[in-house]
Amino acid sequence: MSLNIAKFGGTSVANIDAMRSCAKIVIGNPATRMVVVSAAAGVTNHLVQLANEELTSEQVNELIAKVESIEFAILVGLQSPPHVTVKLNELLSILRDLAFHEELLHRPDLKDDLLSLGERMSSLLFAELLCQMGHSAENFDARKVIKTDNEFGQAEPDIAQIALQADKLVRPELERVVLVTQGFIGSDEQDNTTTLGRGGSDYTAALLAEALDAATCEIWTDVIGVYTTDPRITDKAKPLPELSFEEAAEMATFGAKVLHPATMVPAVRKNIRVFVGSSREPEKGGTWIAKDCKVEPHYRALTRRKEQVLVTVKTPSMLYASGFLQQVFEILARHHLSVDLVTTSEIAVSLTIDNPPNSVRARLNRETIEELKEISEVKVEEGYDLVTVVGNNMHSAAGVSSHIFAAIKDYNLRLICYGANPHNISFLVRESDSTEIIKLLHRELFEQEPLQSHHANHG
Ligand code: ADP
Ligand code: ASP
Ligand code: MG
Repeated sequence: MSLNIAKFGGTSVANIDAMRSCAKIVIGNPATRMVVVSAAAGVTNHLVQLANEELTSEQVNELIAKVESIEFAILVGLQSPPHVTVKLNELLSILRDLAFHEELLHRPDLKDDLLSLGERMSSLLFAELLCQMGHSAENFDARKVIKTDNEFGQAEPDIAQIALQADKLVRPELERVVLVTQGFIGSDEQDNTTTLGRGGSDYTAALLAEALDAATCEIWTDVIGVYTTDPRITDKAKPLPELSFEEAAEMATFGAKVLHPATMVPAVRKNIRVFVGSSREPEKGGTWIAKDCKVEPHYRALTRRKEQVLVTVKTPSMLYASGFLQQVFEILARHHLSVDLVTTSEIAVSLTIDNPPNSVRARLNRETIEELKEISEVKVEEGYDLVTVVGNNMHSAAGVSSHIFAAIKDYNLRLICYGANPHNISFLVRESDSTEIIKLLHRELFEQEPLQSHHANHG
């Protein structure tokens, strides 16, 4: 029988009622033998605050109390079974120890230990709920399988190790029981806990689907699929019934928060179909993401990535200095900064760097800038958003750029990236303009009849 991995996000497991809807979805599909859960909504944000901020003990206690109240409310909903209460209290006492640990603020390994607790608690509670609803389920420690490097806060999975461990520890169990595991967390070679970056539970689900040769991977969240743009930006956004792997990967990379940026990578490698739908309204269907789509329109969606940093490095000697660009990129690579947009002129190169909010890792730090300053003049500008039009064959179709740029001609576009990739056109705009720009573009590209689209297969 084909295997399905189901992942439930933070709002889907925020309380006992939300969890019940998820449990029904699991029970309703016999192919679902492995479940991945996020921390209950809000919990990871509290943990990030504990891990990153200089706090008084009173503030630490307040944050711990907030986490406890979320978890205890679910426990009470489960009638507080003693064996679960004991385990939950164990996790909460680990939380307290870490939160008051003297070195927490300077030890990325301790931070990841702390951050892992949200998922460890919600998976414990969700497994119990499934059992109470008569489904044979067990809590499973994802760290045994999701092996990673030791870049705490943003660890890279080791695909070969994950496949090996999944074969050994997970596959033989799936006939017997549904495994409920944690998204977002893994462990390094020394078995230290690591995390995959904010929103990483989607990635966990895809990695497990890959390792277990699943046919499908379901991402259950708080929206009824992937929309033409974030429905929080405009109520005109429309859910998309289907997307290609490429389109979904572009959307995830360029800020559609509904999918962690790396989610599509394992799915593409193993040709696994990915579904996105609402755990509250499963009857409304959702988006199917597959290798090929029936329709591949020029314009599919608009995405936004907030808080982008624009770095310009300038050297009067660049004209003659071959290897300057290489030096710049070497410094950025050493600091694990990934660059999105690049423009170069004779003496300057401008590039944008992602600076995700609520991340445990500060992305562009002083050391990086100091190192860049050793080889050039450096200017850092903040307050920008990256807006991306995602679609197909945009570099080869006539009229695409004029269509897009005419719609937003009144706005200043600080940097444009067009032509490198047929699936996207990106531009950097002032933070204060991005909502209006997306609304204008949405009206122009998705609210006019007829839609600009063509059938990929005419036959
Ligand atoms: P979860 O906790 O389930 O992982 P997230 O908050 O990470 O949920 O992702 C779901 C949210 O992603 C939605 O509530 C929506 O606001 C946002 N989002 C951004 N872009 C899109 C898009 N193109 N389609 C759907 N949702 C989007
Ligand atoms: N709980 C983690 C976060 O909030 C991972 C996830 O929800 O996907 O970032
Ligand atoms: Mg998410």
